Amino acid sequence: MKGSTHLTIGIVVGAAAAVYYPFTLKNASLYIAVSALSALSADLDGPSILSSKIGKVSKWLHEIFLWIGVCLAAGVIYQYSTHGLVNQELSIVSVVILLLGFVAKEGVTRNIMVSLVGCGLLYWGWTLGWNWLLGLGVFVAWVPWLNHRGMSHTIWATLFWGAIGWGLEQQLHVEGIMAVSICGYASHLIADTLTPRGVKWLYPLSKRSFKIRL
Ligand SMILES: [Zn+2]
Repeated sequence: MKGSTHLTIGIVVGAAAAVYYPFTLKNASLYIAVSALSALSADLDGPSILSSKIGKVSKWLHEIFLWIGVCLAAGVIYQYSTHGLVNQELSIVSVVILLLGFVAKEGVTRNIMVSLVGCGLLYWGWTLGWNWLLGLGVFVAWVPWLNHRGMSHTIWATLFWGAIGWGLEQQLHVEGIMAVSICGYASHLIADTLTPRGVKWLYPLSKRSFKIRL
């Protein structure tokens, strides 16, 4: 399934949450960002999306994402090294944009880059003592090396992702972040279940591939 399809579904899930929970502009953008990232993150595991029939426009878009992400990250690192402070919003935006750029790439270099981003998150989570960020770091550093539609496309990964969302919810005191994370992530697996290849929801307990033909 294409990344753009997953992204669209993720945005719809986030928008639904924005309507469901008490509305503020900040919360609405948070729900949409969390949900969109959740809907895409399962495919950090490999060259699934866009790889074969990548359109010129989306290829371009991803290159642009990647470079904007690199520039923002460089800015954050520069600020940290000169002033010793980290602009948290800018850091989060740069990581999200970087990952959006990477999600369509493939190959060992890409995996190493994504893992490096994951290690950065791990370090960042460790220095701040934020467990959810540590969890996200583990996820981002590890998932690129998995077989495609393997461990990252399971109920276990969904629960792990939900735990990350729970930690973020506790920290931000915004109701519904965990639910949005789980729904966004699950939307990815459900969408993949509708493709001929299906999803091994219970892997490695069961290697059965679940698929639904519409
Ligand atoms: Zn997938």
